[in-house]
Amino acid sequence: MSNDTTMIRTYKYRLYPRKAEVRALEMMLAQGCEVYNAALAECKLRYEATGKGIKALAQWDYFRQWRKQPGILLNASSLQQILRRVDKAYAAFFRRMKAGETPGHPRFKPAQRFNSLDYTYSDGCKLNGAALYVQNVGDIKVKLHRPLPDSAVIKQAILKRSGRKWFVCLSLEADASVDVGSKDNAVGIDVGLHSLLAFSDGRTIENPRWLRQSLADLRVAQRRLSRRKRGSNRRRKAAQGVARLHERVTHQRRDFWHKVTRSIVDTYKVIAIEELSLAFMTRNEHLALSAHDAGLGLFRQLLEYKAESAGTQVIAVAPHFTSQVCSRCGAVAEKHLSVRTHDCPHCGLQLDRDVNAARNILHKSA
Ligand SMILES: [Zn+2]
Repeated sequence: MSNDTTMIRTYKYRLYPRKAEVRALEMMLAQGCEVYNAALAECKLRYEATGKGIKALAQWDYFRQWRKQPGILLNASSLQQILRRVDKAYAAFFRRMKAGETPGHPRFKPAQRFNSLDYTYSDGCKLNGAALYVQNVGDIKVKLHRPLPDSAVIKQAILKRSGRKWFVCLSLEADASVDVGSKDNAVGIDVGLHSLLAFSDGRTIENPRWLRQSLADLRVAQRRLSRRKRGSNRRRKAAQGVARLHERVTHQRRDFWHKVTRSIVDTYKVIAIEELSLAFMTRNEHLALSAHDAGLGLFRQLLEYKAESAGTQVIAVAPHFTSQVCSRCGAVAEKHLSVRTHDCPHCGLQLDRDVNAARNILHKSA
């Protein structure tokens, strides 16, 4: 996070469309999917014929005509956004080829997986009191469960279908000092090597004992299974045992993370965490192991989801050197993964290594 005072924030609101509005929304998504696949097909043909990419946006002239058919509900700028999505998929494909990988060709999307439409705000999609006006659909009831900041400039609106529910996500530029609360209530959280989570205020959270016990039981059961002869009755029994324990661990872990993330968003107004891509975690064997055990993906997912509705801000910072730098004086104190305390050779600060990292994460977010 830079020191800029403006940033993009997203507010997500539930929509309550009436039956006829749902039908119109469904139809728009189906048409969007059709555009996506048609544009992709054209790009694919060109690519197979020439080995080169073409921009899907270059097909805009064609789709502008296509849009004039009766019954087409798609807004022009959101149609362009769909073409941009195709271009993005291709850009990623070419980037990976360049990096020497053998990526699969961008895929056609089945209609049930095409679930969102982007709008430039107020071009076909705009708040209108307690409703969201959507072009060719009408005024849809929206629940504004948290108010938009007064200074907000809304840039983009995304309509989303999630199962049978509908949402609108509004991306806006807001003054960072607005609506965030006092920074006293900010916390950095490190996904620790030794503690499960470490907080900049010194708190740590460990895997609870019952979860550790279930994990240990699971490992024992897995070893037992591996000793059983293939096709035997005893193996079948052992496999059932593993499946049962697996289910228990999954359930307990989910329950645990629900409680942890709830208490975090209820306590803090601003939460800084490290941006940990999965690629990064799998490169680092130690972290990958603990990440797997702890269900950290679930942590991130639930944290962001709960923060959204609690009006808490989550800031992700780049994960560089947070564990090696002293959080008081900034000196670099390199330490092996096995060392538990940060012991600064420069200023003498002694601190749990994960808490030191959490403080650095908080500093970076400011
Ligand atoms: Zn120091």
